[in-house]
Amino acid sequence: MFQRSKSSNGGAAAHGETPEFRDIGDLKGQVAVISGSTSGIGLALARAVAARGGDVVLNGLGDPAEIERTRAELEASSGARIRYHGADMTRGEEIADMVAFAKHELGRLDILVNNAGIQHVEAVEKFPTDKWEQIIAINLSSAFYATRAAIPIMKAQGRGRIINMASAHGLVASPFKSAYVAAKHGVIGFTKTVALEVARDNITCNAICPGFVETPIVEKQIADQARTRGLTKEQVLTDVILAAQPTKQFVTTDQLAGIFLYLVSDLGASANGASFSIDGGWTAQ
Ligand code: NAD
Repeated sequence: MFQRSKSSNGGAAAHGETPEFRDIGDLKGQVAVISGSTSGIGLALARAVAARGGDVVLNGLGDPAEIERTRAELEASSGARIRYHGADMTRGEEIADMVAFAKHELGRLDILVNNAGIQHVEAVEKFPTDKWEQIIAINLSSAFYATRAAIPIMKAQGRGRIINMASAHGLVASPFKSAYVAAKHGVIGFTKTVALEVARDNITCNAICPGFVETPIVEKQIADQARTRGLTKEQVLTDVILAAQPTKQFVTTDQLAGIFLYLVSDLGASANGASFSIDGGWTAQ
């Protein structure tokens, strides 16, 4: 049986006629859990949610005093409720507890962003086995544990948005990043599968595939690539990092917030199981 979309922008359910329709940028009353949000892209998305009235559970590693400063500053500047949960993304039971914490502390769970990630750059024959396991756990398996815990809550609420932070490396490879590329390709496969399973539940699951964004994970890579390839840091930046990105510009966290806000809005209801390349043209090549 066909169902008329409750939140489409056309026909009888046009914008303005459906009381529950929310346009892009209205996140009041919604709760987001964002893994790896003490830094970089995750923190930028947390700021984007809070600035639009949504409550946030922050997560990630770092100095506890600094994390608390970030949490308190975000809460004061936005007026939203901001909490922190210190789940280690290598531990399934802690990840499930983080999702339960959102519901328990903030009353709901509307948006799950599986964003935490690490990188290690090394030739495959020298790749440390513990680094492989850690990257697969943080960059891939954590999305499974969080999604597994979130779906029952979202189903009970009748709506949900799951965003997995993949990468251009979820679609194409680069040498010396075997674990990261394998994990990110896995994230895209996982995204598609979840999307199919929850398609009738008003829940969507999509992946964002950024090109290079200037965050701490990239700053570390510049140093690692310089070591692995025997290049200067300046050469790595121009000839390696932005060599793949036709715009020769880093993607900004604001640009990622733009696609994120679309995907979590009601206008994003038909985007499901998709991977959105925000990479300056990298994967068009
Ligand atoms: P980042 O290093 O600034 O942030 C990573 C976050 O993950 C931090 O908050 C860190 O504390 C957290 N984290 C790491 N290990 C964790 C663990 N065991 N438990 C809990 N949290 C942990 O990096 P970023 O650039 O903001 O990366 C965010 C995501 O975006 C990652 O998945 C990354 O692969 C992806 N990505 C980044 C780029 C880029 O160029 N920066 C490009 C494509 C995709």
